Order: sequence, then structure tokens, then C-alpha cells
Amino acid sequence: MSGMIINGKTGDWEVICGLEIHCQIISKSKIFSGASTHYGSDVNENVSFIDAGMPGMLPVLNKQCVRQAIKTGLGLNAKINKYSEFSRKNYFYADLPQGYQITQFQYPLVGEGFVKIDLEDGSSKNIGIERIHIEQDAGKSIHDISPTKSFIDLNRAGVGLMEIVTKPDFRSPEEAGAFLRKLRSIVRYLGTCDGNMDEGSMRCDVNVSVRRVGETAFRTRNEMKNVNSVKFVMQAIEYEARRHVETYENGGTIVQETRQFDPLKGVTKVMRKKEFAHDYRYFPEPDLLPLVLDDAFIDDVKSEMVELPDAKKERFVHELGLTPYDASVLCEARETAEWFEKAAKGHDAKKVANWMMGDFFAMLNEKKISLEESPITPENLGKLVELVTSNVINGKTAKDVFVLMAETGKAPDVIVEEKGLKQVTDTAAIEKIIDEVIAANPGNVAAYKGGKVALMGWFVGQVMKASQGKANPGVVNQIFKSKLA
Ligand code: MN
Repeated sequence: MSGMIINGKTGDWEVICGLEIHCQIISKSKIFSGASTHYGSDVNENVSFIDAGMPGMLPVLNKQCVRQAIKTGLGLNAKINKYSEFSRKNYFYADLPQGYQITQFQYPLVGEGFVKIDLEDGSSKNIGIERIHIEQDAGKSIHDISPTKSFIDLNRAGVGLMEIVTKPDFRSPEEAGAFLRKLRSIVRYLGTCDGNMDEGSMRCDVNVSVRRVGETAFRTRNEMKNVNSVKFVMQAIEYEARRHVETYENGGTIVQETRQFDPLKGVTKVMRKKEFAHDYRYFPEPDLLPLVLDDAFIDDVKSEMVELPDAKKERFVHELGLTPYDASVLCEARETAEWFEKAAKGHDAKKVANWMMGDFFAMLNEKKISLEESPITPENLGKLVELVTSNVINGKTAKDVFVLMAETGKAPDVIVEEKGLKQVTDTAAIEKIIDEVIAANPGNVAAYKGGKVALMGWFVGQVMKASQGKANPGVVNQIFKSKLA
């Protein structure tokens, strides 16, 4: 069991948590206008009359945004609703020029689904998805340019969002962290959201409550808005759960309120109490017809689905013989998994995985470069592994060749040829060196024969040195053993 139990002074408490995640949809234009979604444009460069809330402007639904949300729903094993509706969510704020947000309320595009998460103890758990609805994003208020004025940038106003709502299935910060990483991995595989929490393209609201172990009903929850990293989400859940337990145990009550997590202090503080909660006065959006989908449209989206991380991981374990841990590390990002598959093609996959997770990732880290910038191609890493398995070079030489590959970008067979690094497997040549080592070290030979078998490592080392690392250590070992027996 991966749940977190808080041992209070009056007994044990269970943590309950649900998440709401706003994901910016990857599409060239906004969800109800033709304006560009390009990130990093000049302020207010990508604003149409619709995005600016000009009177008389009519929204037109962007088909690509609908496709992306359906694709995401399929990726989360969810039901796609053939009938959905748009609603107006009314509130007054400077970054919302229409005075309302077009969203979905009663009839969302995507219904119930689930996401499988993998936990540190090797177990897994399904987290329920309640719904996914699509809606428009708001603009951005800028308060740090002038001490007396606020400015507004509407570039983000009208960008398509998918709001993914989970069931209250999380029982620990670890589970929520594993879910967010898995969700990010899935939307990146699908190309439906870039998943960058620090840039705000994936924003997480966290709902937390606690209950005594054994209680079945939920107690009052608190919501923390826009927590912007996986680590902060986990910290916020733990802090908030402990605060609830402490409050209850000291005879207090928890009132429903919206709070904000302060990452610097690691605490949450009140944003607004329930009595000031918004009344959004939802009503059906009169400017848009209900969204009615046919099977052909949904099937067409289905045909574009790619192999997702869970399925890929399963295949790497069962078909390529990787450990579940190695497979999940390599499958987290699609680019990494595809790079690995290219490298492993036709070679010993397990050995390629070891190289990739060891020396290769360390090299990328050290050079501070991404996979795409790697001087070593997947084909060349595969070749390097092949040179070792076919006994052309030994493992130690391979490490040196790897360093040269990273420096020069050359193929391993070229380096081996240029530097004359081919392993000596010629038994006669090795035997000659061994005889010399034996003749030069009568003391150690006697000690070995007298029972100090650990000296074998030293003998092999002498031969490796004399052969400049090119002897095959397996062969050396074998010959030594028979000579000294
Ligand atoms: Mn929303």
C-alpha cells in the first residue's frame, strides 16, 4: 500500500486528494478564433476581435482543438462523449475581456477514464479520471511594469485548454507526483500539450482533505490554485494534510476555502473564503451549437494514436528483456524511447540499455546537451555494443572508445581501427605474456599455489597492462588458471 498515514496524537489519519489540471492544447490557432497561439510573440500581437471581446464577434470552434482533446481522452482510457455543450462561466476580471469564459459544464467532451501510475515500491494503481472539458484561456495581467498601473497582454486569451479532472483517488503526495509525471509523459507522447509546468502550459489545482482511518465519508476539502511544479504539488498536499489533522485534533474545524501554496516558505495561506466564492451563473453558450460527433470523426482520431508509455514499457520488458525499472526510465519521454529502439535494433538490447542509462546519459549531463544534440548517434552506440559482444574489443577498451566517440562523433569501428585497439584473442600471443609474468614473479606464484587465490586479479592485471589493455580478460583468466593449477 502506498497511502500516507499521518499518526496524530488522537489516532491515524488518511490523506485524500484530487487534482484539476489545465493543459494548454497544442494547435496553431486559438480555440474560437484564427489568431496565432505562438508563445513568445510581442505583447498583444496575437489578438483577434473575438479574443478582445469586441461586441458582435462570434466564436468559431477550432476542429483541431477538439481532435487534440479527444486524442488526450483516448490516451487516458476515457469515454468520448458524442454529444457535448458549451457554457458561459461568468466572472469579472481584467484579463477576461468578454466578461465570461466559454467552457463546458454539464456536458463535457470527455467522460470517465483512468491513468495507471507506477509507484516506488514497484506496485501500480489506477487513478480515476472524472472528465475532460475544453475551454478558452484568459489573458495575463502585468503588475510589475508600473507602480500605479496594471497592463494587460491578451496573447493567451482564447488559447484552447483541456481541463482534466481526476477523482479523489490520491492517498499520498507520492501518488499525485507519479500521476502528474505520467500525465505529462502521455500528453507529450500524443503531442496534445507540451506539459511544461514552469511555463504555465500545464497548471495544477490541488484539492486536499483528511479523514480518520476507517471513516468512509469525505470531510471538508481545501483547494490550492495554480501550483506550478510536481515537487510543489507534493509539498502542498503534505503541508495541507498535516494542517487539517492538527486543526481537527486541536478541536478546530476546516472551512471550505481556496488557498495558495507559497513555495518559498513551504506553507499554504488563505486566498478566499467560501462566503466570497464566485457565483458563475453558468448558462448554455448561445453563440455555439452543441458539439455532435460521429463515429467516423472519432475513428479518424483513433487512427492517429501512437504507442503510449505503458504499452511501450510492457513491450520493452517482454520482448527486449529489459527490467521494469530500465524500461520505465527509457519510456518516460518518447524521444528517448525511440532513440533507444534505434540503438538496440539488431543488438543486445539489455546491454544497449545499460550503456544508455550509464555512460550515455552521464555524457549528455556533463555536456549539458539534449538527446538530439548528442555527438553519438543511436546507430553508433549499437555498433559499440556489437564490438564488445563479438569480442573485437573488451569492456574496458569500449569505455575509452565511448569517450572518443563523444569527443569526435566518429563511429566506434573507425576509432578502433585508427587507434589499433582490437583485442588480442590470439592465444599464443597472450600465452607468451603470461609466461613472462609467471617467470618474473615466483613469489606471487608460490603464494597463489599456497591458497591466496585472490592474487588471480593481480596476475590478470599484469597481463592487461603488458598488452596495453587489448588482451581478452576472459581468455587471460582461463590460461592463467590452467597454468597455475
Ligand atoms: Mn477551468
